[in-house]
Amino acid sequence: MRIITDIHEMQDDSLAARRQGKTIAFVPTMGYLHEGHFSLLQEGRRRGDRLVLSIFVNPAQFGAGEDFDSYPRDLTRDQEVARRAGVDIIFAPEAKEMYPRGYATYVDVEGLTDTLCGRSRPGHFRGVTTVVCKLFTVVQPHLALFGCKDFQQLAVIRRMTTDLNLPVEIVGMPIVREADGLAMSSRNVYLSPLERQQALALPDSLRLAAAMVRDGEGWAEPILTAVRARLTQEPDAVIDYAQVCHGETLQEMDAITADSVLLLAVRVGKTRLIDNSYLRGD
Ligand code: AMP
Repeated sequence: MRIITDIHEMQDDSLAARRQGKTIAFVPTMGYLHEGHFSLLQEGRRRGDRLVLSIFVNPAQFGAGEDFDSYPRDLTRDQEVARRAGVDIIFAPEAKEMYPRGYATYVDVEGLTDTLCGRSRPGHFRGVTTVVCKLFTVVQPHLALFGCKDFQQLAVIRRMTTDLNLPVEIVGMPIVREADGLAMSSRNVYLSPLERQQALALPDSLRLAAAMVRDGEGWAEPILTAVRARLTQEPDAVIDYAQVCHGETLQEMDAITADSVLLLAVRVGKTRLIDNSYLRGD
């Protein structure tokens, strides 16, 4: 396994691999790897001849007052996880190389980014799409794997890839959870033991909503009322949003169909957690 920090070295390496007919699978991350990232790497390993993992805490996707400085970082531990997953190359560029003095080009996906996390985190998706577009140009992957945990991010990246005719297959992967149901996230380390307990209100609410649908509920409103009631039982939980949206367009839905996804963003103490689930499997 090699670690590359230089952008041109990474790009040259990928172009050479492509000339040799190798399929490049790519998993972009911000590091502090957990089993969710590992599942993406495993699938990438299965599908690619060459597996590239990027670790880059992207300043462009953090707003003022967000956790860019405190975002957890541990490259030594990440290397162990990467080695275990059979990663060939870790690409870990410096922010000053990715955004040198005079940098002025951004990718902006309209519409899909106006709602949900886009509304609560202005500029966030512009940072995400810009960095993913740049990483695609540098890493030159045939396929890139993303988690459904960041449901809106995946939809936005699919849109960008289609709209810009990027020759990259986007693969969405299921959410990996802790044994008790909490979706794995690098940010879970911020939670105190008491907050960690309260955070279970998110997966609990998703289960509650799915059970209501199974029992015949066909409308979003009663489900959202029950979900909000469950979430606000926790003293340190503050709902950012709880919405039922169409899985592709992200438009809010009143009636439940096979395309309905329940999306949650909840602050537990200072930690903002997101989670989601389709409401009907059929
Ligand atoms: P991050 O390092 O948080 O930017 O995440 C990098 C990638 O891992 C993104 O595509 C995430 O959606 C994905 N990911 C994060 N958490 C999970 C999880 N619990 N299950 C599956 N994929 C995840």
